[in-house]
Parts: sequence; C-alpha cells; structure tokens
Amino acid sequence: MDKDKLSTDIIITDQFPGGNITVDRIEGNDIDISQDLRDTKPWWHYWNFKIVVNRPQKLFFHFKDEIIGYFGPAINEGNGWHYDKTTFIDHRNFNYDFLHSGTYQFAFSIPYQVEDFERFFEIISPQSKKHFAVKTNSGRDQFYITAGNQKSDSFILFTCRHHACESMAEFVLEGILMELILTSNPVIRDCAIYCFPFIDLDGVENGDQGKDRQPHDHNRDYIDEPIYPITKFLMKFIKSKPLLYSFDLHCPAKYYDIHDYMSLIQLEAPYNKEQERFSRCLEKQNHQDKCSIEYLQEHNIVHGKDWNIGKSKGCSRFCNESGAKLALTFETPYFGHRNKPYMPQELREFGKSFGKAIIQYHADSNIKKFEN
Ligand SMILES: [Zn+2]
Repeated sequence: MDKDKLSTDIIITDQFPGGNITVDRIEGNDIDISQDLRDTKPWWHYWNFKIVVNRPQKLFFHFKDEIIGYFGPAINEGNGWHYDKTTFIDHRNFNYDFLHSGTYQFAFSIPYQVEDFERFFEIISPQSKKHFAVKTNSGRDQFYITAGNQKSDSFILFTCRHHACESMAEFVLEGILMELILTSNPVIRDCAIYCFPFIDLDGVENGDQGKDRQPHDHNRDYIDEPIYPITKFLMKFIKSKPLLYSFDLHCPAKYYDIHDYMSLIQLEAPYNKEQERFSRCLEKQNHQDKCSIEYLQEHNIVHGKDWNIGKSKGCSRFCNESGAKLALTFETPYFGHRNKPYMPQELREFGKSFGKAIIQYHADSNIKKFEN
C-alpha cells in the first residue's frame, strides 16, 4: 500500500461542531496529529476529530504533546461515547483497530455541544424557558434558560463553559438542573433560576480550546471593559437584581494530582465562609447518596495554594463582590481518579446530589437572617 493510496483511504476532519485537529502527516499506518491551539497561548489539550476509513485496518495516532488521558481517547463509533483502555499506548500515542469501514470520532474526553443541551432541554422544558441573551462575536444567538419563581427578587445563577473545552462539567449541570427544576423543593419555590450553559458559545461550537484564549479568555473578562458580548450582558444582569447563589462549573487541567478530583475552588475570607459551609453540605449529601463519584471537602483548592493565588477577575469573584451570599467555582475532572473514567450518567447522578446539597444549604440558610 503506497502512501498516497492510503492517505486517500482516510479522511480526517474537524469540520463539525466542536471539531479540532491538525493532521501533520499520514504515512503507512501512522498518523501524526496535533491539537489546534488557535488563539490559545501558551498551550492547552483539547482535540476532537472524525475519521472516515473505507476498509478494516489498524491505525496508530501520534501526538507531539502528552494529551491522551489514562483510558485512551473518548471513542464514538456512531452509537455513543465510550473508552477502551486497550487503545492507550501512552499519553502521546493511541491505536485503534477499525473493524469496519465508516466514520469514527475520537476526542480528548467526551464532548458536549449545543445539540446535546437541546436534547436535555426537552426533559426540563415543561418547567423552564429559553431566552435570547446577545449575539456572539460570530453572530450566534446566545441563550440562557430560566426556571423557578420568576416573581422572586432573589436569583440563582449557573454558568458553564467559560472555557470552551470543559465539556464534562455540563453533565453535572444537567443533574443539578434536573434535581432543582423537576422536583418540588424550597429552592425552586423561593428563587428564580438562571442558567447560561455556554458562556463561550462560539468557542464550544467552533471547537476552540477557549482556555487562555488571547488577549484573555471569558473567565478573565469580568473587567471594566469586557470584550465578549456575553460577559458584558452577564455583568449587567448580575448587578440588576439580588444574586443569592452562583455556581460556575469548570473542568481543571488535563489530569494528575489535584486535577483528578471533584473540587470546589475557594476564595479568600470573607467569601470562603459560605463556600465552606456549602462544601460541608455537599460532602454530606454526596456520602448520603452513595454517589459513585466522590466529593470530599479536603480536595477543595483553597485560596493561597496550588494555582489558586492572587485575585484574578473571574466570574465567581465578580459574583461574590456583587453581593452573592454564596458564589463558587466547581471543577469536574476530565477522567477522575479511579480505575475507570467518570461517565456522563454518573456525572448526572453526582449533579443531582449536588442539587440536593443546594436545597439543603438553602434550607439551612434562613435567608431572612441575611436580609436583616
Ligand atoms: Zn475553566
């Protein structure tokens, strides 16, 4: 098989929502590929591509950087996502035995696009509404959803994808929203819920890294002159009425150490007081619900440790400084710390437990006390 023939046998593309790859070389059964950094500097790990093969064959994929997780790539053979540890060679290389011709998709971790949220929205749509927020810089309609008591003057804010690549957090968000919106509880009775599932909507759909986008990414845009329409919108919105709680969902760095645990990012005093109180509620609820994905308060990234230093202008800080009773950033690992990866359904279950913790925290809060 000569090189030209083989390379015409194979089509690799990132031309679909969330797609991201650069093909450097195809030779024999070896394919050299890289993540496409676009405007991210210096470096991040996101990639997501489709490959069309027209005959059974085994191929070897080589990255220059260590950007393959513990379990190999997330794989979609056309009927949903899974991992197959036998594909993992090392953090730079994986192989895949294509048993049939067809289209296959591989990604750093399980993607989550707008079409995934649309499917989820069907489930909660009887109790929630979708609204237009702003046009993005690329001209997309940026949306948010509302639920709960819209007459209430207190609101709860959920945000996700300040960093476009952080897809795993969305499954947790789904669980939280299901618990809050689809059950009868004091939170939905007392508060208006606002959720912005794709802060960097263009980045999510274009397949950008998003993280460390230059000149700065969406979570560093809570400044006097924001450069992204959604941040400008959100800052004004947050100031427009009393913000009770805010939960900004993220994923950490690729893997290893602190990045393998569910973790709450704590700010300094006085903001950490309520964060710690919520953290205790979450740990207790997580334990009580026997979640297969564990949360422990000891895994929180407290202010002054690891990367969590200084006072960078993120969403949670902005919410805290705008008077929220509780505002926090929460990290969902891409893979987790176990001998098998965290999968969407487990993350949703974790999210439901998280939702129950919010309900418990709210019930314990005695909001009147804050108002006095
Ligand atoms: Zn993030």
